Amino acid sequence: MNQPQTNTSLFSRLRFVLVETSHPGNIGAVARAMKTMGFSQLVLVNPRFPDAVHQEEAIAFASGAQDILASAKIVGGIEEALEGCNFAAALSARLREYSPPVTTPRALASTLVDDGSLNAALVFGSERYGLPNQIIEKCNVLINIPANPDYSSLNLAQAVQLLAYEARMAAGGDRIAQSPIGFHGDAASLTQVDGMYEHLEKALIAIEFLDPDNPKKLMSRLRRLFSRTQLETEEVNILRGIARHILARIGKNQAE
Ligand code: SAH
Repeated sequence: MNQPQTNTSLFSRLRFVLVETSHPGNIGAVARAMKTMGFSQLVLVNPRFPDAVHQEEAIAFASGAQDILASAKIVGGIEEALEGCNFAAALSARLREYSPPVTTPRALASTLVDDGSLNAALVFGSERYGLPNQIIEKCNVLINIPANPDYSSLNLAQAVQLLAYEARMAAGGDRIAQSPIGFHGDAASLTQVDGMYEHLEKALIAIEFLDPDNPKKLMSRLRRLFSRTQLETEEVNILRGIARHILARIGKNQAE
């Protein structure tokens, strides 16, 4: 076994191993599922068609992930597929009497992220037969995707998608997704926000929505409402603009 790399990103420590896959379309769809989640190491153990990655169906299903297909490693046995790994997880829809400890995709993903010394393989079975016991017994854990007990067998590529997604989320993928999209202006300062409340209060008094002798909790409630959002300078200016117009209108009406 190779020396494990320590603390490198999960994306370079995780490989997807498909055992005896029948349908080239599934191999293509697996490549796509992996690439959408940022993974690239695909190993095929004895696919039914040795040239599966070049078949039209595989290429069509891979869509924009043909680079993953093209760099897939094709091997003759599970030992070769696991070379360089110090951890392997078998994926099975069926629980067996004798198997390594059973865990979920989410728990596995967090273990893989937490322990940067793990070079891991996720091992998936064939469409028709799943994984043989001899392969399951070689693995450290058995992963079962919780599903409808009356019909728990997912399509191969969908099972891969789910594992790749969980691995990405555990590696902080949701933070990546929350990176600024669209407009994000400067956060308003406390002074700007206080100025806005004063301005709004004057306007609300002017239209007699707020009675200064009996204000109740109106301003506190409005503060609470706005404090739930991160107001930006531009937004504070819009609200002050509304207050200014109210005051201008009221002033004009009173002058008439
Ligand atoms: N007919 C096969 C299942 C084939 S599905 C059987 O009875 O075992 C192809 C592969 O997708 C499975 O070998 C497994 O690796 C994965 N898979 C599908 N559903 C799964 C589930 N609910 N949990 C874990 N792996 C699953």
